Amino acid sequence: MANTTGEQFEFKAEVSKLLNIITHSLYTNREIFLRELISNASDALDKLRFEQSRGAEITAPELPLQISISIDEDAGTLTVADTGVGMTHDELMENLGSIGKSGSEDFLNKLSEAAAEAKAEGSADATSIIGRFGVGFYSVFMVADKVTVTTRSCQPGQHAYRWESDGAGTFTVEPVGDSEDAPERGARVTIHMREDARDFLNKFRLEQIIKTHSNFVAFDILLEGDKV
Ligand code: ADP
Ligand code: MG
Repeated sequence: MANTTGEQFEFKAEVSKLLNIITHSLYTNREIFLRELISNASDALDKLRFEQSRGAEITAPELPLQISISIDEDAGTLTVADTGVGMTHDELMENLGSIGKSGSEDFLNKLSEAAAEAKAEGSADATSIIGRFGVGFYSVFMVADKVTVTTRSCQPGQHAYRWESDGAGTFTVEPVGDSEDAPERGARVTIHMREDARDFLNKFRLEQIIKTHSNFVAFDILLEGDKV
């Protein structure tokens, strides 16, 4: 059952362990958080295209299939938005509250060993660790002190929901109010940058990162309105 008021939830224990490693142990090549978010946006757009091709009814069919990235320097935020399949309330709870197969104890032990080794070598390298372990969405907490995901599923008639977390053990999920700004369809990930990650709020830097790590994405990526 979807809840109708804002509620706070605890991450599954494995997610908390994972977040602990991500927040405290990885500090070089943090830029790949963007690759992970763009890859999720691209997956969501792929799924939307599949729904369309099988003739399913979707919300706002006129919306272009694209990824839009925007910077708000004053607010200290970076936003990655897509017009993909989005998530229902239950999908949000499931997908951004637990970790599927990567949540196993064995996985976490190996991850934690790799992070410790990298740290001992003086380069807690996010690229190799996240590449090897596929940490995905949660890698955003290498650079974020708060993350807000606002999303509306492509299934007709769905309400929009907001997921929010500071990555320290809990998250909230609540319906977006009717007067509030919400995506028509898809997901919008807003990253409130950590003080030590504010240098990512730079268009030129982001363009370089996108060209380096997300070169083969099949959908248009707009950065501050310009096609990358
Ligand atoms: P993976 O991409 O390997 O499945 P992630 O941690 O990157 O793992 O993402 C977890 C899940 O959250 C995805 O499988 C997807 O179901 C959901 N998700 C993440 N980002 C989006 C998005 N932009 N739109 C829709 N669903 C998303
Ligand atoms: Mg992913």
